[in-house]
Amino acid sequence: MAKYVKEIMISREEIDQMCRRLGERISQDYEGKEVTLIGVLKGAYTFMADLARCITVPVRIDFMSVSSYGSGTRTSGIVRITKDLDADISHKHVIVVEDIVDSGLTLKHLRQLLGTRNPASIALCTAFDKPARRRVDVDIEYVGMQISDEFVVGYGLDYDGKYRNLPDVCIIGDDSKEETNEA
Ligand code: 5GP
Repeated sequence: MAKYVKEIMISREEIDQMCRRLGERISQDYEGKEVTLIGVLKGAYTFMADLARCITVPVRIDFMSVSSYGSGTRTSGIVRITKDLDADISHKHVIVVEDIVDSGLTLKHLRQLLGTRNPASIALCTAFDKPARRRVDVDIEYVGMQISDEFVVGYGLDYDGKYRNLPDVCIIGDDSKEETNEA
């Protein structure tokens, strides 16, 4: 375990099982169809790669980047698109893939925005969900795991741009946050 990790919350093995479970459900739900996975950068890149490999129907991949104004560990509530999709999603079965849902503002906004582009269907998928922090109602069709209200890093999730490469989902110590700010 890396020295800045205080605790492993979700192990790599549990994450693998979670991806397999979600992949099976999606493959069944979209049998006979093609799906377009839209990963929300940067946090979803690891989950997207694992999930895509657990899906057995034909898959297309695209990415979007959004930023919520504000910094640190809390979202401000205003969502801005910083990188749009490369491809047209009209008549496609779209699944938006997120790393973690907190207030729900990002996914609610993306469902509304992408819904205006005439997709055949649109569903939301997140690896991790913190229901205790929800500020807006949003139906999420595929939730990997519900977690408690803790700030987590690893498996694509960062603190100030770091720790995305940790294979497990971890809680970092307060001293690691200070170190990160100084780096
Ligand atoms: P929402 O719009 O649901 O409030 O925010 C979702 C985004 O907030 C996630 O994509 C992620 O970037 C960030 N976020 C929420 N909770 C956490 C967390 O525990 N750790 C990290 N690293 N990011 C989080």
